[in-house]
Amino acid sequence: MAEGRRVHEEWRGNHLFVGNRLALDFLNTELMSNGETIELLNDAAAVARWMVHADLLTEKAAKKLEQAWERSPRAGQGVIALRRFRDRLRAAVFAFEAGSGVSREFLDELNRLLRTHPMHRVVEADDHGGYTQTASFEPRQPDDLLSPLAEDTAMLLTGVTASRVRKCEGCPVHFLDLSKKGSRRWCSMGLCGNKVKVAAYHQRQRKE
Ligand SMILES: [Zn+2]
Repeated sequence: MAEGRRVHEEWRGNHLFVGNRLALDFLNTELMSNGETIELLNDAAAVARWMVHADLLTEKAAKKLEQAWERSPRAGQGVIALRRFRDRLRAAVFAFEAGSGVSREFLDELNRLLRTHPMHRVVEADDHGGYTQTASFEPRQPDDLLSPLAEDTAMLLTGVTASRVRKCEGCPVHFLDLSKKGSRRWCSMGLCGNKVKVAAYHQRQRKE
Protein backbone atom coordinates (compact mmCIF):
# COMPACT_ATOMS: atom_id res chain seq x y z
CA MET A 1 0.00 0.00 0.00
CA ALA A 2 1.55 3.27 -1.07
CA GLU A 3 1.82 5.64 1.88
CA GLY A 4 1.38 8.78 -0.17
CA ARG A 5 -2.00 7.87 -1.56
CA ARG A 6 -3.50 10.18 -4.12
CA VAL A 7 -5.73 12.74 -2.49
CA HIS A 8 -6.50 15.06 -5.36
CA GLU A 9 -9.27 13.12 -7.08
CA GLU A 10 -12.55 12.78 -5.27
CA TRP A 11 -14.08 10.24 -7.61
CA ARG A 12 -12.21 7.34 -9.13
CA GLY A 13 -14.70 5.55 -11.30
CA ASN A 14 -17.88 5.39 -9.23
CA HIS A 15 -15.95 5.33 -5.95
CA LEU A 16 -15.54 8.28 -3.66
CA PHE A 17 -12.14 8.96 -2.07
CA VAL A 18 -12.43 11.89 0.31
CA GLY A 19 -11.73 10.08 3.61
CA ASN A 20 -7.93 10.54 3.67
CA ARG A 21 -7.75 7.04 5.17
CA LEU A 22 -8.29 3.69 3.54
CA ALA A 23 -10.56 2.46 6.34
CA LEU A 24 -12.79 5.55 6.04
CA ASP A 25 -12.91 5.39 2.26
CA PHE A 26 -13.95 1.76 2.67
CA LEU A 27 -16.90 2.87 4.82
CA ASN A 28 -17.81 5.22 2.00
CA THR A 29 -18.45 2.30 -0.35
CA GLU A 30 -21.99 2.42 1.01
CA LEU A 31 -23.58 5.77 0.26
CA MET A 32 -27.00 7.34 0.52
CA SER A 33 -28.79 9.21 -2.21
CA ASN A 34 -32.33 10.57 -1.80
CA GLY A 35 -32.84 8.39 1.26
CA GLU A 36 -31.77 5.22 -0.53
CA THR A 37 -28.71 3.15 0.28
CA ILE A 38 -26.32 2.69 -2.62
CA GLU A 39 -24.13 -0.41 -2.37
CA LEU A 40 -20.90 -0.01 -4.32
CA LEU A 41 -19.49 -3.42 -3.41
CA ASN A 42 -22.16 -5.51 -5.09
CA ASP A 43 -19.93 -8.37 -6.12
CA ALA A 44 -16.35 -9.60 -6.28
CA ALA A 45 -15.66 -7.65 -9.47
CA ALA A 46 -16.74 -4.44 -7.71
CA VAL A 47 -14.34 -5.23 -4.85
CA ALA A 48 -11.50 -5.67 -7.36
CA ARG A 49 -12.39 -2.33 -9.00
CA TRP A 50 -12.38 -0.60 -5.60
CA MET A 51 -8.98 -2.07 -4.81
CA VAL A 52 -7.62 -0.62 -8.08
CA HIS A 53 -9.08 2.80 -7.28
CA ALA A 54 -7.63 2.59 -3.75
CA ASP A 55 -4.17 1.90 -5.24
CA LEU A 56 -4.06 -1.58 -3.73
CA LEU A 57 -4.10 -3.50 -6.99
CA THR A 58 -2.86 -2.92 -10.54
CA GLU A 59 -5.33 -2.99 -13.43
CA LYS A 60 -3.67 -6.12 -14.75
CA ALA A 61 -3.87 -7.99 -11.45
CA ALA A 62 -7.49 -6.90 -11.03
CA LYS A 63 -8.48 -8.27 -14.45
CA LYS A 64 -7.00 -11.65 -13.54
CA LEU A 65 -8.79 -11.74 -10.19
CA GLU A 66 -12.09 -10.63 -11.71
CA GLN A 67 -11.96 -13.62 -14.07
CA ALA A 68 -11.04 -16.02 -11.28
CA TRP A 69 -13.76 -14.67 -9.00
CA GLU A 70 -16.52 -14.44 -11.57
CA ARG A 71 -18.42 -17.59 -10.62
CA SER A 72 -16.61 -18.52 -7.42
CA PRO A 73 -18.87 -19.11 -4.39
CA ARG A 74 -15.81 -18.59 -2.17
CA ALA A 75 -15.33 -15.10 -3.65
CA GLY A 76 -19.02 -14.31 -3.12
CA GLN A 77 -18.71 -15.27 0.55
CA GLY A 78 -15.64 -13.03 0.80
CA VAL A 79 -17.67 -10.05 -0.43
CA ILE A 80 -20.34 -10.72 2.21
CA ALA A 81 -17.64 -10.97 4.91
CA LEU A 82 -16.26 -7.60 3.77
CA ARG A 83 -19.65 -5.92 3.88
CA ARG A 84 -20.33 -7.29 7.36
CA PHE A 85 -16.95 -6.03 8.55
CA ARG A 86 -17.85 -2.65 7.05
CA ASP A 87 -20.98 -2.49 9.25
CA ARG A 88 -18.97 -3.21 12.41
CA LEU A 89 -16.23 -0.80 11.35
CA ARG A 90 -18.84 1.92 10.84
CA ALA A 91 -20.19 1.42 14.36
CA ALA A 92 -16.61 1.53 15.70
CA VAL A 93 -15.82 4.73 13.78
CA PHE A 94 -18.98 6.39 15.11
CA ALA A 95 -17.94 5.43 18.66
CA PHE A 96 -14.39 6.66 18.03
CA GLU A 97 -15.67 9.99 16.67
CA ALA A 98 -17.98 10.40 19.64
CA GLY A 99 -15.13 9.67 22.05
CA SER A 100 -17.22 6.95 23.67
CA GLY A 101 -14.73 4.17 23.02
CA VAL A 102 -14.68 1.33 20.53
CA SER A 103 -16.31 -1.87 21.81
CA ARG A 104 -14.26 -4.71 23.29
CA GLU A 105 -15.77 -7.03 20.64
CA PHE A 106 -14.52 -4.82 17.84
CA LEU A 107 -11.01 -4.61 19.30
CA ASP A 108 -10.97 -8.40 19.65
CA GLU A 109 -12.04 -8.77 16.04
CA LEU A 110 -9.45 -6.23 14.89
CA ASN A 111 -6.69 -8.03 16.76
CA ARG A 112 -7.83 -11.34 15.29
CA LEU A 113 -7.70 -9.84 11.77
CA LEU A 114 -4.25 -8.37 12.36
CA ARG A 115 -3.10 -11.85 13.31
CA THR A 116 -4.87 -13.83 10.58
CA HIS A 117 -4.55 -11.27 7.75
CA PRO A 118 -1.10 -9.72 8.26
CA MET A 119 0.57 -7.30 5.88
CA HIS A 120 4.22 -7.87 5.05
CA ARG A 121 6.95 -5.29 4.58
CA VAL A 122 8.72 -4.83 1.27
CA VAL A 123 11.96 -2.83 1.18
CA GLU A 124 13.05 -1.34 -2.13
CA ALA A 125 15.82 0.93 -3.35
CA ASP A 126 14.59 4.37 -4.33
CA ASP A 127 16.00 6.65 -7.05
CA HIS A 128 18.16 8.65 -4.62
CA GLY A 129 20.40 5.92 -3.26
CA GLY A 130 18.12 5.31 -0.27
CA TYR A 131 15.45 2.77 0.53
CA THR A 132 11.75 2.84 1.10
CA GLN A 133 9.49 0.33 2.75
CA THR A 134 5.89 -0.34 1.98
CA ALA A 135 3.33 -2.65 3.49
CA SER A 136 2.07 -5.21 1.02
CA PHE A 137 -0.40 -8.08 0.77
CA GLU A 138 -1.39 -10.68 -1.77
CA PRO A 139 -5.05 -10.52 -2.65
CA ARG A 140 -6.24 -13.98 -3.60
CA GLN A 141 -9.83 -13.62 -2.41
CA PRO A 142 -11.99 -10.51 -1.94
CA ASP A 143 -11.77 -10.77 1.85
CA ASP A 144 -7.98 -10.54 1.68
CA LEU A 145 -8.80 -6.83 1.52
CA LEU A 146 -9.25 -7.26 5.28
CA SER A 147 -5.43 -7.14 5.58
CA PRO A 148 -4.94 -3.48 4.56
CA LEU A 149 -8.26 -2.56 6.17
CA ALA A 150 -7.25 -4.01 9.54
CA GLU A 151 -3.85 -2.34 9.30
CA ASP A 152 -5.38 1.03 8.47
CA THR A 153 -8.03 0.70 11.18
CA ALA A 154 -5.24 0.05 13.70
CA MET A 155 -3.43 3.17 12.44
CA LEU A 156 -6.63 5.19 12.65
CA LEU A 157 -7.33 4.20 16.25
CA THR A 158 -3.76 4.66 17.43
CA GLY A 159 -2.32 7.41 15.26
CA VAL A 160 -5.10 9.90 14.70
CA THR A 161 -6.80 12.41 17.00
CA ALA A 162 -10.41 11.28 17.34
CA SER A 163 -11.78 14.82 17.01
CA ARG A 164 -10.24 14.96 13.54
CA VAL A 165 -12.41 12.08 12.36
CA ARG A 166 -15.98 13.02 11.64
CA LYS A 167 -19.01 12.51 9.46
CA CYS A 168 -20.01 14.99 6.79
CA GLU A 169 -22.77 17.33 7.94
CA GLY A 170 -24.73 16.66 4.78
CA CYS A 171 -24.38 12.92 4.15
CA PRO A 172 -23.10 9.64 5.68
CA VAL A 173 -19.50 10.03 4.41
CA HIS A 174 -16.75 9.90 7.05
CA PHE A 175 -13.37 11.60 6.69
CA LEU A 176 -10.16 12.45 8.48
CA ASP A 177 -9.82 16.22 8.60
CA LEU A 178 -6.31 17.15 7.46
CA SER A 179 -7.03 20.87 7.14
CA LYS A 180 -4.77 23.26 9.04
CA LYS A 181 -7.56 24.66 11.19
CA GLY A 182 -9.34 21.35 11.64
CA SER A 183 -12.58 22.95 10.53
CA ARG A 184 -13.58 20.69 7.65
CA ARG A 185 -17.34 20.04 7.75
CA TRP A 186 -18.17 18.38 4.47
CA CYS A 187 -17.16 15.35 2.46
CA SER A 188 -16.49 17.73 -0.39
CA MET A 189 -17.43 21.26 -1.32
CA GLY A 190 -18.77 20.04 -4.64
CA LEU A 191 -20.93 17.28 -3.19
CA CYS A 192 -22.32 18.58 0.11
CA GLY A 193 -20.66 21.91 0.91
CA ASN A 194 -22.58 23.85 -1.72
CA LYS A 195 -25.77 21.90 -1.15
CA VAL A 196 -25.76 22.69 2.60
CA LYS A 197 -24.88 26.33 1.99
CA VAL A 198 -27.68 26.75 -0.55
CA ALA A 199 -30.17 25.09 1.84
CA ALA A 200 -29.07 27.39 4.69
CA TYR A 201 -29.43 30.38 2.39
CA HIS A 202 -32.99 29.40 1.45
CA GLN A 203 -33.85 28.86 5.11
CA ARG A 204 -32.59 32.34 5.98
CA GLN A 205 -34.61 33.81 3.10
CA ARG A 206 -37.77 32.15 4.40
CA LYS A 207 -37.25 33.54 7.89
CA GLU A 208 -36.82 37.11 6.69
ZN1 LIG B 1 -21.32 14.90 2.33
